[in-house]
Amino acid sequence: MNWQEEDLKYIWHPCSQMKDYETLPPIVVDHAKGINIYDIDGNCYKDVVSSWWCNLLGHCNPRINEAMKKQLDTLEHVIFANFTHKPAITLCQRLMDVLPKGKGLGKFNFADNGSASIEMAMKMSFQYHQQTGNPQKKRFMALTDAYHGETIGALSVGACDLYSQIYKPILMDVVRVEGPDCFRCPYGKCRDNCNCECFEHAEKTFEKYGDETCAMLVEPLLQGSAGMKIYPPLYLTKLRALCDKYNVHLIADEIATGYGRTGKMFAFDHAGVSPDIMCLSKGLTGGYMPMSICVATNDIYDAFYDDYGKGKAFMHSHTYAGNPLACSAANAVLDILRDEQIIPHAVENAKYFNKIINEKFLDLPYVGEVRHIGLVNAIEIVKDKKTKEAFPSNLRLGYQIYKKALKKGVLLRPLGDIIYFNPPLIIQPDDMDFVTNVAKECMLEVMKDYVV
Ligand SMILES: *Cc1c(COP(=O)(O)O)cnc(C)c1O
Repeated sequence: MNWQEEDLKYIWHPCSQMKDYETLPPIVVDHAKGINIYDIDGNCYKDVVSSWWCNLLGHCNPRINEAMKKQLDTLEHVIFANFTHKPAITLCQRLMDVLPKGKGLGKFNFADNGSASIEMAMKMSFQYHQQTGNPQKKRFMALTDAYHGETIGALSVGACDLYSQIYKPILMDVVRVEGPDCFRCPYGKCRDNCNCECFEHAEKTFEKYGDETCAMLVEPLLQGSAGMKIYPPLYLTKLRALCDKYNVHLIADEIATGYGRTGKMFAFDHAGVSPDIMCLSKGLTGGYMPMSICVATNDIYDAFYDDYGKGKAFMHSHTYAGNPLACSAANAVLDILRDEQIIPHAVENAKYFNKIINEKFLDLPYVGEVRHIGLVNAIEIVKDKKTKEAFPSNLRLGYQIYKKALKKGVLLRPLGDIIYFNPPLIIQPDDMDFVTNVAKECMLEVMKDYVV
């Protein structure tokens, strides 16, 4: 059977112009182990994007496999209203040990994907203010270049035109805060002398719209889909204070940044402050199972807690909420992080990774910046190193590099002209050498046609 042909007969792949598949047909994966993905012809691809940023501890991790197999023969799924189970309870207990302190995060609402947890957070915040005497608070705020998922609500708070442009007529009217842009800082600052001057935009926006706003959403420190844009923790500290001043919930979208991706368990840990609501997914199950959690403070929870007839309950549900198989994977992930000291080791390895990436790429005439946080490293290709002008997007430079790298066994999947690495936390130096060498070879090959 020609599996590629059969695939294209039926399958509409995510985030793809399907016509592209005429020249780059889908790779039929057979199995995977660690950071290696193997296709049915035996080719190996190094998964340095963690399969859309969710694979945390390598594919087919023996401990997660074992935990899930055990759970499978015990309980696969059960209604989560009025019923519960040990894997979910254990998971919440365990998360309490690692969540940011200060605001009383402590109530866990389960869903099955990141976008759903964002929807849940938005509805929860809106309803909270309706039930606590602030019915005028009906709007949401979010940063420029934000990405929070692709359901209608999540798309509304997002600001990546690539995903949302066409749908604008049916999206919510969100208050947009001009966020940090450290690579092209309009204040002429660099990462060493920044005092978050750009925060004045947030201050002005809150002054104008704070009273009608129920929540502000942020991807803390790392705006992934925007091209791995990185900004300093001080911005979060200031935002925390501003949200408090205007009685606006601070919603942390830690879907991509959580679970050690930034070098700490959560990106908010770098700032030492706590959000009011935190959304978790991706690394939560190690990339094994679709699950997300919307964690709220006890204060929020209390505003919904009353006699049934008062109609204050949060009537939000997903059929697969609290799925035991997903919870068993999530518990295994927390065990492994603790027992094997995964995050401290990743932080150590990240130094080497960033060093070799700087050495290999920084001096290239079209590399505008190499930026990094944790094991995430991004290389931004620009037409002009001084003005930081980008190449026309129709050249699809990133896509060309992506295609070449696949042939050499590395899965890069750039964001526009930003080549990035966001590997499983368990990546080792020999693989770091290999993937950066391949990325550089491919970049040189593609770029030779565009530099004079
Ligand atoms: C992936 C992602 C989402 C959406 O999660 P899905 O499971 O794809 O719906 C939301 N926010 C951020 C920051 C993400 O990276």
